[in-house]
Amino acid sequence: MKKVVTLVAAVLLIFLMFFILKTVFLHPIVKTEAQQPEENHIVYLPPERNVYDIKVEYDGINKIKAVMNLTYVNNTEDIFKELYFHLYPNMFSSSASVPFFKEDFYRAFPKGFSPGGINIQQVEQDGKDVAWSLIEDGEILKLILNHPVEPGNVSILNIQFELTIPQAKFRLGYQTFGDGKITLSLGNWYPILAVCKDDKWSIDKHYAIGDCTYSDISDYTVSFTVPEDFTVAASGILEEGYTKDNKAIFIYSIDSIREFAAAISNNYQTSTDIVDGIKIVSYFHPEDKRGGFMALNIAKYALGIFNDAFGKYPYPELRIAEANYYPGGMEFPTFIMMDTTKYTEPHISSTSLERSTAHEVAHQWWYGLVGSDQINEPWLDEGITEFSTAYYFEKRYGQPGRDSYFERYVNTCVDFVMKNHIHMLDPLPLFKNQQEYFPTVYTSGVLFYEDLRNQIGEENLLDFLRSYLETFKYKNVSLKEFEEFLRGKKYEALDESFYDKWLNP
Ligand SMILES: [Zn+2]
Repeated sequence: MKKVVTLVAAVLLIFLMFFILKTVFLHPIVKTEAQQPEENHIVYLPPERNVYDIKVEYDGINKIKAVMNLTYVNNTEDIFKELYFHLYPNMFSSSASVPFFKEDFYRAFPKGFSPGGINIQQVEQDGKDVAWSLIEDGEILKLILNHPVEPGNVSILNIQFELTIPQAKFRLGYQTFGDGKITLSLGNWYPILAVCKDDKWSIDKHYAIGDCTYSDISDYTVSFTVPEDFTVAASGILEEGYTKDNKAIFIYSIDSIREFAAAISNNYQTSTDIVDGIKIVSYFHPEDKRGGFMALNIAKYALGIFNDAFGKYPYPELRIAEANYYPGGMEFPTFIMMDTTKYTEPHISSTSLERSTAHEVAHQWWYGLVGSDQINEPWLDEGITEFSTAYYFEKRYGQPGRDSYFERYVNTCVDFVMKNHIHMLDPLPLFKNQQEYFPTVYTSGVLFYEDLRNQIGEENLLDFLRSYLETFKYKNVSLKEFEEFLRGKKYEALDESFYDKWLNP
């Protein structure tokens, strides 16, 4: 017996020594694909890009406690002594800073203003407290690092925070309905590292129109602990889902996306389909199942059409969830939020549910894969995405589909687009309302790419879109780079008058 005890103690001691040595000498602990053990020696390599690992606890109403571990990889040539994060939830800290115009106030807050925000509790760099402050009216978190991060180096940042979700019909918000039912939208909800391009941090505040997110491609693992009767739909792949101690746990994970979103409800049913090997899951309230099936069907066709046209969607799964988002649909990488009112339209085929779903699926390429600055150059992703939406109607339904789309969304806007003082390449703060924004930024995209197709032909257009995707996939493109890329193709049919007409405001 004594021998056995001694043996067990010795084995334990060896294991303990091994872990101590590993922890002391091999700091990077994040797993990457490159870290496959080879025979007897283990190679630890830093990850290729930032890795977000977030643990979320949801109280079943409007509070979230979270711990975020960010493995920050400095892939630039610069040394960083400071880092900046967007705290988008703080746009809900007062009724004066909300991300929509006054005329939409009661569409977003049907029960009156409800505040929300993010409360940063602790920030550490490589295990030590780090100095931080809030700037830009609390919308930006600034970290003064204990030690700078050199080019090619890695630093582990740990941020603990609490989130209060407003009772709003928005990207971040919740609504209650029926008998204890609740559906929560979790978009733009965690501290996300700002983009630093050409030596400049993009820390623009949100605006009352358009989308605000501008971020770099990263890897994500997010685990949600929620009350047992809740379902979590989120970005990425559902790696694990189980219940423990009256809680449900959902773990989602995915590499190479530029932000992470979710929707949580105790009133979700799901339906699943597959196209080109990609699994699509539709989440909907059971009373709206007709809309839920329709959303699944449209997403399936749109994904198939865009796979053929632009190049294949590189992720194994896509989710679309019924949520409360008064402007309609909202794209997130590998995840789409769609407003509940679209699920109950009276004639559910060929309606705004179809346009919005096709549009948000197209954003998986134009925004999700090819990123851009959505505040200062919103046309870059919205224009090409709306053209892709028109292309979906044309490819799915032929000439009648194209005609009905143009009648509804393009023909009535052409005059406005061509004669309006505001230009499609203008930044968000120059737009005064939605009536001005949609035709100028969205419809002009349809007109621009239609003109391009008329000039260079459909084959060349598709070739252009495919090589644009390949060149800027997982990157952020600027208007300047876009124009240079198009000019670089040297299409004979495009003379200066084409560039003057569209790209020189
Ligand atoms: Zn869009």
